[in-house]
Amino acid sequence: MKKLFFGALVLSFMSACNSDNISNQEEISQDTGATTGLVASKRSCPSDLIREKALKNDPALKARYEANELQAENFKRDLSMGKVLADGTVEIPVVFNVIYNTASQNVSDARIAEQIAVLNADYSATNSDINKIPSAFQPSAAGNVKISFKLVATNRKQSTKTGWRSDLEQMKKSSTGGINATDPTKNMNIWVVNSILDENNQPGTLGYAYYPESAGLWYDGLVIGYQYIGKTGASAPFNLGRTVTHEVGHYLNLPHLWGSSDTGCQTDYSNDTPTSPGPNYGTPSYPLNRVCGGVSRSQMFMNYMDYVDDKAMFMFSANQKTRMQAVVAAAGPRAGLR
Ligand SMILES: [Zn+2]
Repeated sequence: MKKLFFGALVLSFMSACNSDNISNQEEISQDTGATTGLVASKRSCPSDLIREKALKNDPALKARYEANELQAENFKRDLSMGKVLADGTVEIPVVFNVIYNTASQNVSDARIAEQIAVLNADYSATNSDINKIPSAFQPSAAGNVKISFKLVATNRKQSTKTGWRSDLEQMKKSSTGGINATDPTKNMNIWVVNSILDENNQPGTLGYAYYPESAGLWYDGLVIGYQYIGKTGASAPFNLGRTVTHEVGHYLNLPHLWGSSDTGCQTDYSNDTPTSPGPNYGTPSYPLNRVCGGVSRSQMFMNYMDYVDDKAMFMFSANQKTRMQAVVAAAGPRAGLR
């Protein structure tokens, strides 16, 4: 609303100076005869003088002026870097850091390209299974999230390690056998490892990611098992690239549907995803009702932020889109990605 008002103000300044007004002046001069002193012989527009005086006398106004100029500069810079596309889509540069032991763990460029294509389809709602959204959930579907992904580098390193603990993050430092992040303030780093272990050295984690409060820190980004990258050769039923779609959701501030704890029935800060007591697995049949606080609700288990198989998840909600847009907005915690 504020912007609209400012725009209207600018327009009124402009119209005070444009040629339409000259013809108005001519009309007036014709109406009033050839009175000298009322007709301009040279074009004159005092907008800048008026502004200069106003800015000098009003520090708050001057601060607003400076903020507007800064915003315009930033917008111009973003456009020139090509990171905000013409339709307003924010394009995130992606760096893959592949750490492998055997040759088969060294995921191919083709598989990484498949993964980027999956992200771009899922985040623009052009995924081939989007038409499977149940009609009851169609009004709350996100549509095009207007965030896209562009591969800018792939780094590879061989290692003798057969597993990587998520709590130690050794894959993210060259000094501990890993690969350092490529400027995490400007790039989304994805580390691909042969096995993700929990703090008890147990395997079973497909991937994990850090939320925006970790934006730009050395460990910021995603870690994904090589088995779940792209499609070709990936491990069923997690072989449609949706582990990365899900983890990017966390990276862009989306909790699980049941909230950011294992308690369940917590908020995920999106009003259009029905409250959920906990994860769903496999390929549930719709409708599926589950209870929170004594209320039974149809579950949006086909949302990317649930735990179902890759082929059973195919949508974000509109509120989730808004939350992700807030993260990459010019004033958002991941604005550096723009
Ligand atoms: Zn998750």
